[in-house]
Amino acid sequence: MTRFKTLDDLGDVAGKVALVRVDLNLPMQDGAVTDDTRVRASAPTILELAGKGAKVLLLAHFGRPKGERASTLSVSMTLDAVQAVLHEEVMFIPEITGPVVEQAIGILQPGDIAMLENTRFWKGEEANDPDFAAAIAANGDFYVNDAFSAAHRAHASTEGIAHLLPAYAGRSMEAELKALDAALGNPAKPVAAVVGGAKVSSKLDVLKHLVTRVEHLIIGGGMANTFLAARGVDVGKSLCEHDLASTAEEILDAADKAGCTVHLPYDVVVAKEFAANPASLRTCNVHEVAPDEMILDIGPQAVEALADVLKTCRTLVWNGPLGAFEMAPFDTATVSLARSAAALTVEGALVSVAGGGDTVAALNHAGVADDFSYVSTAGGAFLEWMEGKELPGVVALEQA
Ligand code: ADP
Ligand code: MG
Repeated sequence: MTRFKTLDDLGDVAGKVALVRVDLNLPMQDGAVTDDTRVRASAPTILELAGKGAKVLLLAHFGRPKGERASTLSVSMTLDAVQAVLHEEVMFIPEITGPVVEQAIGILQPGDIAMLENTRFWKGEEANDPDFAAAIAANGDFYVNDAFSAAHRAHASTEGIAHLLPAYAGRSMEAELKALDAALGNPAKPVAAVVGGAKVSSKLDVLKHLVTRVEHLIIGGGMANTFLAARGVDVGKSLCEHDLASTAEEILDAADKAGCTVHLPYDVVVAKEFAANPASLRTCNVHEVAPDEMILDIGPQAVEALADVLKTCRTLVWNGPLGAFEMAPFDTATVSLARSAAALTVEGALVSVAGGGDTVAALNHAGVADDFSYVSTAGGAFLEWMEGKELPGVVALEQA
């Protein structure tokens, strides 16, 4: 991992203006925030800077206003939730550049916190317009990026501005980058990757990258069906991308060349209808799936074998559930393997990093999210990282 500066590298910031990029793109229902996880993630950074006497200006986007003011997408919708998490008053500034911001800074005392308006109300944000970035930077003394989840976008508030002010990673960004580095950048070997979920097509680049990085690639979920079909298995009515058979074969060949062992299930849980606890439920060998059956989870023998694989590994990276985990009993394999990974992590035998919207939900459902070494809630940025892509927001911090 290339080095980047953290809050530990800050000198005396008393009275200085910190521009802090955070993630306030919070899920809302009926005007109220339904999940404040992202605010809690950045609270340590905000409070540390305020505690050191900086005037803290929060920068964030909210929704997709596409470069125009939209009253329903003011980031001030999150103000109550932010104040509740911080236990501090936060001033809202309905601009992002110019004299209104300047005046507000004049009123703020060292240690005060303010929130600037939705970065995406201005076209310069997503265009990464250097003039827009410079106008934001003009009001700050230094920049802190604590929004890993937005780091895959080269926008003015995530990338451009990092070149114009002294730039630092916030505590949440720092923790995320260290965890990801321990998982794939510079991991303890052997490394296992679990890739599951619905479709191969959404994770082609992930699979192609992982075969060159890990010793064991465990494929589950709907995408295992595509690989099984490519190997001549009749998967019946299962979710399967038959048109990707040759792509699946290429991935298997690349794995073979790179010395990566690919694990496909040899038993599966099938049913004739997509419903909870259906009457047609049964477990069988992958070669025994009937034409009117669907594979909805990997089987118990496969899970037992995979748990044994994890026991031989020192690092695990996980994206995607092994079955249709939203419905019982098709959550069984995911829950069981997640608990094995969590137990190994708690023993200190395994470093385990997981990410992905449904994956996080599945780990919470299994009750083990807190036992994993790190669970990323970053979504798109996490997937791009799993694809081996450089994230512009991170690169900018490394160059700073
Ligand atoms: P993530 O959000 O963690 O990246 P994905 O969105 O790729 O994960 O995949 C999650 C979805 O995959 C879930 O909705 C789950 O029901 C579905 N899924 C997993 N296994 C199967 C299967 N065998 N058949 C159909 N859907 C599946
Ligand atoms: Mg998903």
